[in-house]
Amino acid sequence: MMMTEDGKSSPEFLDILYSYANEEDEEIRVPQNKRPSCSRCSRPITVCLCPYLPEKPVAIETNVYILQHPLEESRNLTTVPILCECLPTDKVQIIKGKKFSLRRFPKVAELMKSPNTLLLYPDSEAEDIEAIPQAPGGQPYNLVLLDGTWGQAKGMFLHNEVFSWPKKVKLNHSTKSKFVIRTQPNDMSLSTLESTAVALAALERRPEIVDILSRPLEALCDFQLQHGACKHDSKVYKIENGLWNKTLKKKYLKKFEKDGQTVNSLMDSSNSIEPSS
Ligand SMILES: [Zn+2]
Repeated sequence: MMMTEDGKSSPEFLDILYSYANEEDEEIRVPQNKRPSCSRCSRPITVCLCPYLPEKPVAIETNVYILQHPLEESRNLTTVPILCECLPTDKVQIIKGKKFSLRRFPKVAELMKSPNTLLLYPDSEAEDIEAIPQAPGGQPYNLVLLDGTWGQAKGMFLHNEVFSWPKKVKLNHSTKSKFVIRTQPNDMSLSTLESTAVALAALERRPEIVDILSRPLEALCDFQLQHGACKHDSKVYKIENGLWNKTLKKKYLKKFEKDGQTVNSLMDSSNSIEPSS
């Protein structure tokens, strides 16, 4: 295990890369100036997602809580609004924040103490969500997701004691993300919408939920691609295939100095090295 600057243990090489993977995305904004927009999905009529949304919100037992990093909402391409369109309004709650102190967020603390709460976070103790028994009748699970880049989500997890309380679960899936217009850390990383879909499909024992929730996401990506967006390979894919042409900070390269092979591959695919700040 490596240590981060603040002394906390962190997973190894690739995982550290993952935490920086989403920070340099190029997001393409479809021009939306004063074009009539759809009253349901709020998108311009020409790229309305409603035909791809489920006719009625997908009825679920699980309560979904999205703890959203304050910077995530300002990103142009986020999947949570689509998620909210697909699920009943009383089944999904978004709570914005970064530091969830007991004083400021007593309800979050209460939620984290509940034995029915599952935090989707792949730490070393996380259990495979497929192995979680069905919720006992009348007591649905509370599924909690941390929404942000991988770096932001990891920061939220490490800096909030409340997240150490609930049972952690991780996804067991073999699907590649369909959110191809935003760089994912690695080929198996999923967007918040897709992660929620896979988790709900497992908890509710309803595999079809994945397809239902993925449909509007695929449509969104198709629209964006038609308007000039590019498909994004994952950061790890780019690095491994010599396609990563952006700068990696020297301080991160230093962390990997002991791994000659890795450092070389990073150096080869990096045109320049920023001075450490
Ligand atoms: Zn619409």
